Amino acid sequence: MQEHVLPAESEYFALVPNHSDWRVWKQPPVMEALKTKARKEGLWNLFLPNPEYGPGLSNVEYAPVAEIMGRSAIAPEVFNCSAPDTGNMEVLLKYGSDTQKQRWLTPLLSGEIRSAFCMTEPDVASSDATNMRATALIEGNHVALNGRKWWSSGIAHPHCQLLIFMGLTHAAASRYQRHSMVLLPLDTAGVKIERVVPVFGSYDAPCGHGEVTFTNVRVPLDHIVGGPGRGFEIAQGRLGPGRIHHCMRTLGAAERALDLMCRRSLQREAFGKTLAELGGNADLIADARIKLEQARLLTLKAAWMLDEVGTKGARSEISQIKVAVPNIALEIIDRAIQIHGGAGVSDDFPLAKLFGNIRTLRIADGPDEVHRALIAKLELHKYQSRSVASA
Ligand SMILES: Cc1cc2nc3c(=O)[nH]c(=O)nc-3n(C[C@H](O)[C@H](O)[C@H](O)COP(=O)(O)OP(=O)(O)OC[C@H]3O[C@@H](n4cnc5c(N)ncnc54)[C@H](O)[C@@H]3O)c2cc1C
Repeated sequence: MQEHVLPAESEYFALVPNHSDWRVWKQPPVMEALKTKARKEGLWNLFLPNPEYGPGLSNVEYAPVAEIMGRSAIAPEVFNCSAPDTGNMEVLLKYGSDTQKQRWLTPLLSGEIRSAFCMTEPDVASSDATNMRATALIEGNHVALNGRKWWSSGIAHPHCQLLIFMGLTHAAASRYQRHSMVLLPLDTAGVKIERVVPVFGSYDAPCGHGEVTFTNVRVPLDHIVGGPGRGFEIAQGRLGPGRIHHCMRTLGAAERALDLMCRRSLQREAFGKTLAELGGNADLIADARIKLEQARLLTLKAAWMLDEVGTKGARSEISQIKVAVPNIALEIIDRAIQIHGGAGVSDDFPLAKLFGNIRTLRIADGPDEVHRALIAKLELHKYQSRSVASA
């Protein structure tokens, strides 16, 4: 990170434009050079606990590594650990057939291609995955896809070839068995990227977040992952370990912000004192350190629970860090911006970009409110069982 990745950031960002014409976006060559170096060092597919595909780290072991990667927006791709590919690889590993694995998992694992996950729709509240209205209807030996998706992250990347589409298959079935997940090549007839959606004015080139239409798209039936009707189950499974990677990385972003805050507050002087000595700035630095350590320990606990009892047993802890970590990180980054004055909101420091990226997590990884609802439900459940109530 120190020798290769952080010094390459300026070269990378100088080559990615901030405009909406995604057709001309290119992968900066420095990224491919960094990927080659990382792979040679064995720093590759670090997120997968299975030793067949990487070093085989547990979630607790991966957490500090992901945190280090979180210091730079370009690092996850360097080590083939970036979303949405990580979640998509997990889906293929867990639910994919041998043919699906051979066609899509192999090139994703080697970093040759990238992928997108198309679940969210502009017309329905997508924090509830059972709401999706786009259809994936079985017609003989084919499945026909129709509908509009948006926030399909990574779809505009020049290397994106695979889409995972979630659609309604059995409208009359139970809410949790209505949908299917379908694999399809991006260049299938009927798939159209209508636009890339900006985030706080940034198009996030060269990945982009697409609004995409699917019009009478037809693919063979064997493109369904895990069988028809398992879309909701897969959507939940996809949000297992992959779900806490963002939190682990967010700690790294917060740590970088605190580092910048300390340096700036010691280097700069106003009213005859360093910024660190003025007002309550030293307290703000102390509070940032306290909250960051709390957030890290909670994240490690969630990672440990995932290792020990699996996704289901760790549901509350996963949701707890989803709420706690981005909120704490945003508070720290905001303070770091403040201590930098005007420079903090400019592009001369990574703080404004970090703030924008992490603010989206309070929505993109499931809104805070949805996580709080689950935590409260699990907490109250302990008191609602008959034996506890009578005791
Ligand atoms: C940068 C970014 C990248 C994304 N990448 C992807 C991607 O790659 N693929 C993909 O499919 N989607 C992606 N998403 C979409 C993301 O998953 C959804 O935005 C998210 O699930 C929320 O859905 P929604 O936007 O429809 O909000 P809605 O469901 O309309 O919710 C809006 C608000 O309603 C409130 N709310 C919802 N439920 C509750 C509740 N139970 N209690 C109280 N209040 C509630 C919350 O304040 C919530 O923020 C991305 C989003 C962003 C911003």
